[in-house]
Amino acid sequence: MGLVVHPVLRAPAAAAVVLSTMWALMPSPVSKAATVVTAAPAVAAPIVAAAQKADSFQFPLPTWKPHCLGFGSQWRLCDGTVLRRCAATGAVWLHTGVDIRTGIQPVRAAANGVIVGYTVDPVFKGGVLIKHQTAQGVVLTQYWHVWPRAGFGPGKVVTKGQVFADIANMGSRTHLHFAVFRGDYQPNAWRGALPPTACDGFPAFPNRFVNATTFIKAHLAVAPPTPAAAPLHHCRYAPMGG
Ligand SMILES: [Zn+2]
Repeated sequence: MGLVVHPVLRAPAAAAVVLSTMWALMPSPVSKAATVVTAAPAVAAPIVAAAQKADSFQFPLPTWKPHCLGFGSQWRLCDGTVLRRCAATGAVWLHTGVDIRTGIQPVRAAANGVIVGYTVDPVFKGGVLIKHQTAQGVVLTQYWHVWPRAGFGPGKVVTKGQVFADIANMGSRTHLHFAVFRGDYQPNAWRGALPPTACDGFPAFPNRFVNATTFIKAHLAVAPPTPAAAPLHHCRYAPMGG
């Protein structure tokens, strides 16, 4: 299924709190509907360790079985129910991530980075953004319907493959929504979907989102070179029976 969020970012060291515009399906205003689990501290803890560069990525789950919504799919429940349309045109929004069918299990950081956002929606559970510094610039990975583990909040440095969260229980709709956003943080990086053409104040799909599955596959760690076959004995080798 798609996701609906009322994003509230708790930023790291700068302690900046960014309230994005309300974009969710549910009509209630963000100030009322959003449940912010952690308020920004008056003095944010400094980031003591810089994140390592993200040289490669991995999938956050050990298996990658797509749910009904992929990148660019119309934002509908699996039964076809439309989650959001543009008010003016009626155009159905498009899904920015990939939904992965899964049970409740650990979720791993897709690459070295730092958690830059955590928000909670009463229906759609936790959302996490991790910022990665790559050779091609900053990339954010977005994880929805997860609960961070203790100690994993904004400002926390993570390494590739580190378990930082668990899939949230959403009953028959339990799944991971995973997206890749090219660029540094902006409120739109929380979007689980965007309109096909700019409308209602939202940028057109895909904005800075890219196909998450394609991106990860293209940035997997390069396998170390296969060792050459052990050299044959250089002086006295004789074939069997020879
Ligand atoms: Zn989704």
